[in-house]
Amino acid sequence: MSVDTGFYFAPLLFAVQIVLALGQNVSNLPSHHWGYKSVIDEIPPTDWQKDFPSCKGKYQSPMAIETSRTTENPSLTQLEFALYGIHPQNDTWVVINNGHAVQFSGVFGSKLPTVQAGGLPASYVFTQFHFHWGSTDSRGSEHSVDGKRYPLELHIVHRKVTEDDLEALTESTGMAVIAILFELTDDKDLAHQHLDAVVQAIQLTTEPNIPKSVRIPSLSLAEFLPSSPAFYRYQGSLTTPPCAEAVEWSIMRQPQKVTEAQLNVFRRLHERNIGNLTIPEDRLVDNFRPLQKPNGRVVSYYSGQTATPNANFATESPIILKSQAPKFAQVRIPAVFALVFLSVIKL
Ligand SMILES: [Zn+2]
Repeated sequence: MSVDTGFYFAPLLFAVQIVLALGQNVSNLPSHHWGYKSVIDEIPPTDWQKDFPSCKGKYQSPMAIETSRTTENPSLTQLEFALYGIHPQNDTWVVINNGHAVQFSGVFGSKLPTVQAGGLPASYVFTQFHFHWGSTDSRGSEHSVDGKRYPLELHIVHRKVTEDDLEALTESTGMAVIAILFELTDDKDLAHQHLDAVVQAIQLTTEPNIPKSVRIPSLSLAEFLPSSPAFYRYQGSLTTPPCAEAVEWSIMRQPQKVTEAQLNVFRRLHERNIGNLTIPEDRLVDNFRPLQKPNGRVVSYYSGQTATPNANFATESPIILKSQAPKFAQVRIPAVFALVFLSVIKL
């Protein structure tokens, strides 16, 4: 996962742009930035700790989940996704390829999507979601399950409701991230129903650090949730610098599905403003951190078997829901309409 990395990356990328405008070679870039490749102008994950000491901490992410070593934790309950069905103002999401991932955020007004319960010590408000993916179908996810790497992983990032972004990074339970794995399908009818609209938006952000406002009337966070409430839980870190050990991880056990064509849209994003994907360094792919050691941590799980019968997994707090009820009427709009309405407003 990542927090807003523009603070670290934008000035460096600006320098990259200037150098490229002067026609210099990539290898002559004056400054380095953190990334995933071992190339001349990029600091690979093994060296992140030189600039970000927390990256060599004891409780880092991602982790390999070995199901035979996980334990069912009876104190875990069903996660409550309150207001996950609401839409950002004007159905508009801000999408940015930040050179490390592609990230979506929105303006929600006074009521924000929130995750709570599920063994979490507090309520956590949504801040952004983003994806990690591979150059091939055999890799891309940050977490692995029984040795399997998935081609795509979604991180829905939240911070503790009582804290701001910086405070949340200083506390071991300051953030909560919901991770959803995507497995490959050959059948586009089986692919996640709303991923097409997301992919259409991603196509508008091939160049890094140019945010786009995109209307996606069909999209709310609830659309990403699998039907099963089962999840794995462990305590870890951001998977990108500064690697703060501040995250309550919930990895949903049931994967969603993605097609090769959808994955290829992610793979066409540029990491730099070179505009030439034949230069390997420019392809934004394999943006996942290597697996980190458990160092005594045990991954626990919630099986979903204690869930209330007939309960709606994507639940809303009844108290908050009262005033928000009309908004839920617009959640289930077919993806085909989303494509029709998709429009771009340059910031
Ligand atoms: Zn992430």
